[in-house]
Amino acid sequence: MTDINTDIVIIGGGIAGLWLHHRLNNMGYHAILIEKAQLGGGQTLSSQGIIHGGTKYTLNAALSGAASAIADMPQRWLDCLAGKGELDLSSVKLLSRNQLMWSTQGISSKLTSFLSSKALNGKMVPISSENYPAFFTHRSFTGKLYQLNEPVLDTHSLIETLSKRWRHRILHTHDKYTFTRTQHHIEELTIDNGLAIKAQEFVFAAGEGNEELLKSIGVQSAPMQRRPLQMVLAKSKTLPTLYAHCIGASTKPIATITSHRHTDGDNVWYIGGAVAEEGATMSSFPLINKTQKIIKKILPWANLEGIEWCTHSVNRAEPAQKNLLRPDTAFLSSENNLHVAWPTKLALAPDLSDKFISILDTTTAYIEDSKQKITDEQLRKLPSQFLTSVSPSLWDRCFSGKTSHG
Ligand code: FAD
Repeated sequence: MTDINTDIVIIGGGIAGLWLHHRLNNMGYHAILIEKAQLGGGQTLSSQGIIHGGTKYTLNAALSGAASAIADMPQRWLDCLAGKGELDLSSVKLLSRNQLMWSTQGISSKLTSFLSSKALNGKMVPISSENYPAFFTHRSFTGKLYQLNEPVLDTHSLIETLSKRWRHRILHTHDKYTFTRTQHHIEELTIDNGLAIKAQEFVFAAGEGNEELLKSIGVQSAPMQRRPLQMVLAKSKTLPTLYAHCIGASTKPIATITSHRHTDGDNVWYIGGAVAEEGATMSSFPLINKTQKIIKKILPWANLEGIEWCTHSVNRAEPAQKNLLRPDTAFLSSENNLHVAWPTKLALAPDLSDKFISILDTTTAYIEDSKQKITDEQLRKLPSQFLTSVSPSLWDRCFSGKTSHG
């Protein structure tokens, strides 16, 4: 017997699922999200929170697919942060409106001419030395500094905000599901204690979990790839706040550093870029040693005394590409009423939701008779086992004492 009738079931409470869930419910659809762990605790709270507009990707090649698909994202997010976009994200913390890009030596002439080319269209501007932020006024800094006009967000406040308005339509569940299917359609999903949810559309937005879900129902049309990373974290009271990419001989950043606040008030540097890609298979200690040497080289004046270090291993889950390349755009693959979603970047969550909504526009997904749907009051009365929570921030998880190395 069906216990819950809804329009759309979304599996997975990372940025992809939560953005879509919030947007659909705001639009008048009835959407229920189910999450097996804590909201945001997958890749989303492991991300650096950078809302890319494609500049990083234009450095790798002339305007690529990635750059053109993503170009509108920063403004779209900024509108939401200002409370005038498709979602009200005015309570999300904006960590920085822009980032810095610097080079250790003089930037190569090829890169310099690219940086002043039209491809960047004012998104990256050189900073004159009298306007350098204090940290870069040190006499040891002889490189060039650029400002990259793309924002950085606090991902924890993003997940809190996205999950608040429609929290009663988010259920915590164990991932032992039974799907009831006819030949072409998924009719119903049965979760914990036999609770059955009937919907018109089912969206798999479970990040790395999509692979297992697809396997469980025998669908092979959306294969997944994992790109492993091992990020490095440094924590102290004295670390300066920095959102910056260091470019070396290659256009791929040697290191990308973002700054975050631990609940004890310390600053945490979250370090990605080549450090994390090349360090993915290393043990934690050697990677920390290697990163310390890199930081001493690229920021020789930075004071690294009294810093606590740790690493965090995480996979990027994406639609499979040839040679494990980075996919260009948000991915949505639909087969009848089953939709498989990977945003491929936090920044592309709005783009992913557009793709799904444009499919809904051409179907009759919506249960017209609202009497058939479970009411919010009934949802609020579900047993407490179905209550969800937001995961603690990565900084608080990593520096709780267990994984850090002094
Ligand atoms: P996830 O965030 O992984 O969420 C999936 C959710 O599904 C999880 O909560 C999980 O518990 C749940 N789940 C899994 N299986 C089941 C199941 N069977 N039932 C119910 N729930 C299930 N992108 C950017 O744009 N900017 C950045 O700065 C950036 N930095 C990054 C840094 C790192 C280290 C990494 C790894 C990624 C970064 N990304 C960045 C990419 C971005 O984080 C991801 O593309 C995005 O977060 C993926 O979101 P998602 O919702 O698809 O997956």
